[in-house]
Amino acid sequence: MTQTPLSERLRVVFAGPRNAGKSSLMNALFGREVALVSDIPGTTTDPVTRSFEIPGLGPAAITDTPGIDDEGVLGDQRVRLAMNRAESADLRVFVTPSHLAPGEAEQTLFEAWFAGKSGSEKPTILVFTHSDRDVHPDKASWSEGRGAIRTEAPDGRGIDSLVAALSAARPEREPTPLEGLVKEGDLVLLVTPIDLAAPAGRLITPQVQTIRDALDRDASALMVKERELYSTYRMLGKRPKLVVTDSQAFSKAAADIPEDQMLTSFSILFARKKGDLAKFLAGLAAAAKAPRSPKVLILESCAHHRQADDIGTVKIPRLFRQLVRDDAEFSFERGLPNEAELGRYDLVIHCGACSITRGAMAARLERLESSGVPVTNYGLFLAWVNGLLPRALEPFPDAMEAWTALFA
Ligand code: SF4
Repeated sequence: MTQTPLSERLRVVFAGPRNAGKSSLMNALFGREVALVSDIPGTTTDPVTRSFEIPGLGPAAITDTPGIDDEGVLGDQRVRLAMNRAESADLRVFVTPSHLAPGEAEQTLFEAWFAGKSGSEKPTILVFTHSDRDVHPDKASWSEGRGAIRTEAPDGRGIDSLVAALSAARPEREPTPLEGLVKEGDLVLLVTPIDLAAPAGRLITPQVQTIRDALDRDASALMVKERELYSTYRMLGKRPKLVVTDSQAFSKAAADIPEDQMLTSFSILFARKKGDLAKFLAGLAAAAKAPRSPKVLILESCAHHRQADDIGTVKIPRLFRQLVRDDAEFSFERGLPNEAELGRYDLVIHCGACSITRGAMAARLERLESSGVPVTNYGLFLAWVNGLLPRALEPFPDAMEAWTALFA
């Protein structure tokens, strides 16, 4: 459990007003002090995240957040931090003191999360703290029809019910890399260049997770460098169900295997796992119709070490200028800019997002959609400019259909 990376853990976020007892609840849940507790409102100034195993749901990362009713310049920033965490959560816990009338920020959040307004589609658990006090009539109406878990953190009352509610929640599950693509007994052939861009002495996350997924499915995984693909493929006594290549070796891989061999890339597997292939394809259609001097944002999710011929900062801009529009202007970010800044862009090209959760990526996609900025993904863009779409979409019939409709 302790070795599961954060990007693969279920994200649970505790949110609510200051002094609601969120940190006490975290401590009671973990059975030890993991978050600072005091009677002073606003004690939690930064989100605090700890690993936890939820029975039935598996490894989770639980985050305690600053109060959503914090005030002042710093308070506003803390509220933004808390809401950003809640936006990217898979599962939310709304913590509120049962005996107090709801404040304005609290009422707004309750309506957004529970009353059918935008944001109410994510599973959210309602928790009343201070269960030794009478429930305020407004809060009593909140719990009608949806129930509220009543807790009293100092003596651990209600914690078992909270754990049971977390276990029973059904957040959207992130698909595994090979989900629906291979089955027991199949062979998957993986192609990865070991060049200057490859980290020393290890494989990268998408490669490791794809191998592990093949093994979990009782399939076989064989890994080769792109130079050995041609000869290795012809030595095989069994046809691979799927060949998965690093995006940067796409053209060579496609040329070295039969045309009717199912082929895709790690990046496309992760575009599906972390994001939404249909949205990324719509973004590609927007790229194909890019206006004059398009402003393109290259958006990544981590601060990985950049090589001289870096895919995001060098290769993709070069290919875009060569094959799409030579007057494109590029910017590079690791976090999503604010709404005003986002509105400047005609297109976002996003990395494979291997270091963030599907929930965090969904929050990014939602914000891009509401800003009207189309988004595509590294793997799909590279397959397209290499002339390998729709072939790389063959394993994904829905995406293939979306592609056909967009480019018919
Ligand atoms: S830039 Fe994106 S795809 Fe590359 S390692 Fe970081 S999160 Fe993963």
